[in-house]
Amino acid sequence: MNESVFTYAAPRLRFGAGAADEIWYDLDQLGARRVLIVTDPGVLATGAPQRVAEQLRAHGVTAVVHDSAHVEPTDASLAEAVARAGADGPFDAVLAIGGGSSIDTAKAVNLMLTNPGELMDYVNAPIGAGAAPRHPLLPLIAVPTTTGTGAESTTICVLDVLALKVKTGISHERLRPTLAVVDPRLTASQPPGVTASAGMDILCHALESWTARPYTSYARKTPEQRVPYCGANPVADMWAERAMTLLARAFRPAVHHGEDETARGEMALAATFAGLGFGNAGVHVPHANAYPVAGQVRDFRPRDYPAEEAMVPHGMAVSLTAPEAFRWTFDADPERHLAGARLLDPRGGPRWDGDPRDVLPGVLVDLMRDLGLPNGLHAVGYDESDVDSLVEGAMKQQRLLATSPRTVTPEDLAQIFTRSLRLWD
Ligand SMILES: [Zn+2]
Repeated sequence: MNESVFTYAAPRLRFGAGAADEIWYDLDQLGARRVLIVTDPGVLATGAPQRVAEQLRAHGVTAVVHDSAHVEPTDASLAEAVARAGADGPFDAVLAIGGGSSIDTAKAVNLMLTNPGELMDYVNAPIGAGAAPRHPLLPLIAVPTTTGTGAESTTICVLDVLALKVKTGISHERLRPTLAVVDPRLTASQPPGVTASAGMDILCHALESWTARPYTSYARKTPEQRVPYCGANPVADMWAERAMTLLARAFRPAVHHGEDETARGEMALAATFAGLGFGNAGVHVPHANAYPVAGQVRDFRPRDYPAEEAMVPHGMAVSLTAPEAFRWTFDADPERHLAGARLLDPRGGPRWDGDPRDVLPGVLVDLMRDLGLPNGLHAVGYDESDVDSLVEGAMKQQRLLATSPRTVTPEDLAQIFTRSLRLWD
């Protein structure tokens, strides 16, 4: 029997310029007197966490700041953050200020401050034991300082397990932040390369949840079997649609004219909307592919990111196989793919007269060219001989691939990766 029920959950939201100045009020409403702020050294250097901490202190809330988040958290970095938090506790609430890494670290810290055992007990099976937290967590307030990740809306904490060289996650409804505070002023200093990558992440969150396998196509679940990611559904669709409309007008100006406050505000809104959608529906092939594309990097150094570390930023990694992934998913629901293309490219043009399969890939490739993203996997250091190991890495992301609108085989992924080596001439 097919599924006939979907569930929707999201954090409360405080949005807008100045929203970060009002966190004391939310903590007051929660009755929190002693708060742990989790951030990373890069975000700490901007002074934002200290300013929030000062404001909390002015309102009688004790704030302890830990720069314990590692960019791309690992089992080791999370264990260290948990130990540091344990030594300075107890706390009444956790506040994450930063990108996805800080928010994910705060989720893990919150889990381990409130529940027994080891981190690996809660990591997704088969890598960990996949246990569900038995006790409620502390209130978690997430304050994103980069637009895109959506970590403020989701139930997942992504981490690298170092000994196994694998990226995996902890996912449970209880990890979802209680409140998301999105203040576009915190992203005002984001350079163009970061806005471009982060924006492609937003776009893929929206398009992947929009084209995800519909919730009605799964086998019927019992209430206790229901998972946070339930497939495309009418509520998630609404957020994805609206996010794509905002991206269509704000994305190019936000990258090319960083001083355009309206465009930046709309990108922050698009990121939030996309997060409220994919945090419920899920994402699929481009995100699964992004894990090995980011994880197997050799010496690519993207513009506007710290030069000392080779990396393919998450949003860039997601975008590189997106045009070909959506060409491959097209047959699952042609109308939806064309509707997505229309939302992102409302002016239309000659591409609409050709093969309908080419329309959405064409919209994405044009956007990537305009925004200065790399021309395919080749431009970030991969060639034909890497396809097998990229496929192997992506096939490990079964939680994501389960949301694909078509059943994914290694041969399908090999075709997508190969065609993504070069995206335009
Ligand atoms: Zn993403």
